[in-house]
Amino acid sequence: MDVGGTTIAAGLVAADGRVLEQDQAPTHARGLGTALATIEELLDRLSDRARARGVVVTGVGVGVPGTVDAERGAVGVDVHYAPELAGVPLAERLGRRLSGAPVFVDNDVNALALAEWTWGAGRGARSLVVLALGTGVGAGILLDGRLHRGHGGFGGELGHVPIDFDGPPCICGGRGCLKSYVSGTDIAARATARLGRPVSAAEVFRLAAAGDRTADETVAEICRALGAGLAVVVNGLNPELIVLTGSVAKSLRPLEARLRASLAGYAFAQALATTRLVILAQDKDATVRGGAALVRYEMERRAA
Ligand SMILES: [Zn+2]
Repeated sequence: MDVGGTTIAAGLVAADGRVLEQDQAPTHARGLGTALATIEELLDRLSDRARARGVVVTGVGVGVPGTVDAERGAVGVDVHYAPELAGVPLAERLGRRLSGAPVFVDNDVNALALAEWTWGAGRGARSLVVLALGTGVGAGILLDGRLHRGHGGFGGELGHVPIDFDGPPCICGGRGCLKSYVSGTDIAARATARLGRPVSAAEVFRLAAAGDRTADETVAEICRALGAGLAVVVNGLNPELIVLTGSVAKSLRPLEARLRASLAGYAFAQALATTRLVILAQDKDATVRGGAALVRYEMERRAA
């Protein structure tokens, strides 16, 4: 299951990563503050469909857009897109609805990184960083075949790495965060102010491609900011692979050369030469495969 700020997606995923069933619901289908009820309803629906198919559910994995105490399966306090989940012991709550199948909860992009590593673009990589550029900016870090959650479990928040120490205030309480320049929400807000009319992030990229100079200035700024943010990853971790995904990544695909040129201006050449960068077109299946990859990873890890 993937809990997003607007949609919760759930799927029945086979051990080889095939998505057998998919379902989704608006996160606040029953009004603001009701994400938990929506999660439980989707879980019940998918459990029924599994029974109807004669499929045994071996585990449930949930990705949440914020910080998570993955050992306890409890949501942390920084969960800006579904604040009602803050502090909820989600694994325990959902476990009560299931007959014995374990429930694992993690940050949504950690789950997505595991899916890319298990079945997707990061297969076989020893180290991998996934940056998801959408409504917000999330990251998942895999080092030497292990998910790097940080000492307290709250690491991996590369969207909130400051790239401008005097920059604008961020929802996280910091300033000049990478997210403030490259998330879909922030791109739309900046371009709306500059163009004097409401535009979406995807429109900004379309306008720039069509020759609009103001839109292109915003795109140039996105490439510079993301180049600086990716240099933090390249210089700090020098992973085998960086994967960019999400709606903004999709818009950046035609601008790959520009983004690489920007990154080259900030990163060490030898580190950059040994880190591969892949920009994915969004894959809807990938969101529900994240939870499944989390189940697989955690069952193996905890058995070891
Ligand atoms: Zn921030």
